[in-house]
Amino acid sequence: MVTRKAIASILEDYEDIVVATVCSHSSLQIFHGARQEGFRTLGIAIGQRPRFYDAFPLAKPDEFLIVDSYADILDQADDLVARQAVTVPHGSFVEYMGADVFAKLPIPTFGNREVLRWESDRDKQREWLTSAGVPMPLKIEHPKDIDRPVFVKYYGAKGGRGSFIAKNYEDFRESIQPGMKFTIQEYVVGTRYYIHYFYSPFATSGYTLSKGGLEMLGVDRRDEANIDEMYKLGAQEALRKMGLLPTFVVTGNMPVVLRESLLPKAFEMGERTVERSIALFGGMIGPFCLETIVSDQLEFKVFEISTRIVAGTNLFIGGSPYADLAEPGMSTGRRIAREIRVAQKQGRLADVLS
Ligand code: ATP
Repeated sequence: MVTRKAIASILEDYEDIVVATVCSHSSLQIFHGARQEGFRTLGIAIGQRPRFYDAFPLAKPDEFLIVDSYADILDQADDLVARQAVTVPHGSFVEYMGADVFAKLPIPTFGNREVLRWESDRDKQREWLTSAGVPMPLKIEHPKDIDRPVFVKYYGAKGGRGSFIAKNYEDFRESIQPGMKFTIQEYVVGTRYYIHYFYSPFATSGYTLSKGGLEMLGVDRRDEANIDEMYKLGAQEALRKMGLLPTFVVTGNMPVVLRESLLPKAFEMGERTVERSIALFGGMIGPFCLETIVSDQLEFKVFEISTRIVAGTNLFIGGSPYADLAEPGMSTGRRIAREIRVAQKQGRLADVLS
């Protein structure tokens, strides 16, 4: 892992920051938000310069850096530092580059990279959240113990790819891919809400924590193929016999709002997650998402945490029913840029970049 000291020394020479990210996932929003806060922007593209940015001039980066592969970004680190780049990580950036390589990237990066250790290992993620008092679905230790519908997932953010439902050990054996690390959770029946939070260590007003403050910028639900449409074909058991198994590949996102009486619990979960992160590894900074299922008893279960901007925030480039009550029009992309700007003005860049 690149040290905070090394990053702090790079930052000493930064004056005119360029906000850079990989051209995918939530990059339109990140570039748009950075521009709104007056930053120059740089798009890192794999293979070739994507044309679709031409259709979105307000979100098109000022410059592109074209590399052959995600791994090649590491070779370009000196060039990116010379351009005074600050990278903003998103799901595709970290997953495709590999969390291990990303951890080593010698370029100032938004957020605390220590969080990677706690997020990318599903056991550590569970340790963090459960020790914070955040309710999670029950974990089934051994496949042979499957005695109820369960959800099996692999390590890392895969946009739902590869995950499957099993109702017994035979189902598990049929679908498991050999050689991959997996985890088994009880299948939670309820309604999914992906809550977008932002933690600022600088905030002194609003929903304040022991240090800084917590914001809630939006909520989405993911569209997943083909589970979301499968019901139209009839009972899943009959489809299974025909070889049609449900899959959970994210294809898009829908805006949702929480029943208002759930807001206190939503804030409490976010607060506990941040406070515990401060105790465990010095704090998770910036955007994060608790991926939840709410039961008919109005209880939350958090089945996963994403510790950076999630693609569901793309719905709210122009604000959200929550963000608009704090600062109208604020997106997560812009909020990240705002935090960098505030840090720069206060001479505290090393507090939010690592
Ligand atoms: P991400 O890109 O968010 O990391 P992933 O590949 O790690 O995705 P998950 O987000 O853990 O996968 O799960 C994918 C989908 O599976 C969820 O959106 C949800 O529909 C469903 N799911 C996950 N865990 C459970 C659970 N315990 N009970 C019911 N459904 C679940």
